[in-house]
Amino acid sequence: GEKLLEVKNLRTSFFTHVGEVKAIRGVSFHVDKGEALGIVGESGSGKSVTSMSVMRLLQHPGKIIGGEILFNGEDLIKKSEKDMQGIRGNDISMIFQDPMTSLNPVYTVGDQIMEAIIKHQKLSKADAKKKAIEMLRLVGIPSPEKRVNQYPHEFSGGMRQRAMIAMALSCEPQLLIADEPTTALDVTIQAQILELMKDLKNKLNTSIMLITHDLGVVADVCSRIIVMYGGLIMEEGSTDDIFYNPKHPYTLGLLKSVPKLTDKENKEKLIPIPGSPPDLLKPPKGCPFAARCEYAMKVCMEKMPEYTYIKENHRSMCWLLHPDAPRVDEINGNLK
Ligand code: SF4
Ligand code: MG
Repeated sequence: GEKLLEVKNLRTSFFTHVGEVKAIRGVSFHVDKGEALGIVGESGSGKSVTSMSVMRLLQHPGKIIGGEILFNGEDLIKKSEKDMQGIRGNDISMIFQDPMTSLNPVYTVGDQIMEAIIKHQKLSKADAKKKAIEMLRLVGIPSPEKRVNQYPHEFSGGMRQRAMIAMALSCEPQLLIADEPTTALDVTIQAQILELMKDLKNKLNTSIMLITHDLGVVADVCSRIIVMYGGLIMEEGSTDDIFYNPKHPYTLGLLKSVPKLTDKENKEKLIPIPGSPPDLLKPPKGCPFAARCEYAMKVCMEKMPEYTYIKENHRSMCWLLHPDAPRVDEINGNLK
């Protein structure tokens, strides 16, 4: 496919009073036009910092210290804040976990969608209102002609998330970044919102970057997945590669902790990965996952693994894939 976004060797740090927290330590990936990419990892893995870096919305003391963020071939890192304001909410839109932080309680939902439309498209107020109604209908809000005049508090949680998506899409962005968009919602609504995102991607050909801690969430929407840990990409592959042929112990750990949308009773079978992410104030010298990895070898503590390509577009950063490493299928049948 044709590349819409290409991130090359991105590094982002937070310069705190106790020192430099290396949140993103050299991350490269791309999103094709019309493609949905999933970025998965636990909190602290660097996935949100990656999206905030792409949006150039990092707050002090966060700073991009290296790399390139090419959007349609132009480096966003080199853009002025004024140029970025034109790109945000126009070419790139973002939706967050909690729509109440993005929806203003004192304006009607319709007014807020209209504001986004009028700001970026030269439409009259009447046409903007028509478009707002059309967007609410598109995201599956019933009686949109009535709903357009209501306030956020008159909407349920799931409806507010739909309204957020309507607002984010009203400017017809080329890229939609969704950071944990369904985490606060119950399982049924979550499934509906994901179905909606999939639908919109197909209808509008919007590229999507879907960020979540839950591998189960990306399975149905995304064609490719990036697994992040300790500010680095541990594994990247097609959704099938990640689910059926995982090549990184961290991916395997995440897979074991995936709750199934259909399987509410079986939650007790989930196995969380013991331990916690590394302290990026003093990142480990070797593999960031070594302290929690059941396969860790001496070399893992000492040297950062390089990427091994299992095939084109499927790579994993793990010493187990080194030709001299002990064969994992001899150690454990789970990884082979
Ligand atoms: Fe585990 Fe070593 Fe692979 Fe890291 S490099 S994931 S510690 S086996
Ligand atoms: Mg986050």
